[in-house]
Amino acid sequence: MDLSFADVAAARDIVYRHLPPTPMWSYPVLDAAVGATVHVKHENVQPVGAFKVRGGLTLLDAMSAEDRARGTVSYSTGNHAQSLAYASAAYGAPCTVVMPAAANPAKANAVAALGAEVILHGPDLEAAQHHAEALARETGARLVSPGDTPELLAGVGTLYQEILESQPDLDAILVPIGSGTGASAATVVARELAPKCHVIGVQSEASRAAYDSWRTGELVKRPNRTRVDGLATGRGFDLPQRLMRNGLSDFLLVTDDQITQAQRLLATKAHTLAEGAGAAALAGVLSRPDLFTGKRIAVVCTGGNANDAELAALV
Ligand SMILES: *Cc1c(COP(=O)(O)O)cnc(C)c1O
Repeated sequence: MDLSFADVAAARDIVYRHLPPTPMWSYPVLDAAVGATVHVKHENVQPVGAFKVRGGLTLLDAMSAEDRARGTVSYSTGNHAQSLAYASAAYGAPCTVVMPAAANPAKANAVAALGAEVILHGPDLEAAQHHAEALARETGARLVSPGDTPELLAGVGTLYQEILESQPDLDAILVPIGSGTGASAATVVARELAPKCHVIGVQSEASRAAYDSWRTGELVKRPNRTRVDGLATGRGFDLPQRLMRNGLSDFLLVTDDQITQAQRLLATKAHTLAEGAGAAALAGVLSRPDLFTGKRIAVVCTGGNANDAELAALV
């Protein structure tokens, strides 16, 4: 396989040179509302507000000085962009990110503030990808796939190592899925540290490409209509899907409204501002009480970069 536990353990040394481990708390009022013991892993407190920064740092660290000098170009709805921009600044490398024209302005501004070049282009991530590919051909910068880059998976896997070292006897970890880097890395870490712990993916039914790719065993494209930007991908990605094929125990679909409801619950019962994607794992739990009542589980609050519409919907 293209990702081993040793890769994740090595990435942890890199990540910890830049960032401390994130907290994981449980909240009695949240447990009571859910009917389970729920550990919330707080990636929303990362300096860029999302877990992906662990992968960006691991990637930049692995690049040669020449490659860093040429820089990277990538495509993103926002958090992958912030991750690459943060890591590129830390390693002194140029960074260009193509984002869909309607990207969350707060995320686009944050990327620019980190010193990266932001190009707003096209109606969706697929159009942004094509533009990024053309730029990479022109400039010689390294094209970074947000899903099919092993260093990104190794880096984000470190958060699952933190979860399972502090709570080795969990019944399940729920992970929101867009391209599947987080969930696929989780399967590799769980196999090593807690083979009985189920890794369960959650996606919006309005953007179900990863779900259908996993169910069918083929990389498929699907309409990409979720309003939850961290989950807005329209195709399956090869590397995460190969790792998830045998590693993921289950995969749940939720509605965007269920995600908003879970955001509200995190805000009122866990002192936590989550963006939609950061609440999707909890939405998965709430959607299936038959699976989780009385269990000990972790939900990953993957990010806190809520946009204005999300904030307005909370009150
Ligand atoms: C990217 C992202 C996800 C989805 O992660 P993948 O590794 O693409 O599956 C979930 N939540 C947030 C906040 C994200 O930024």
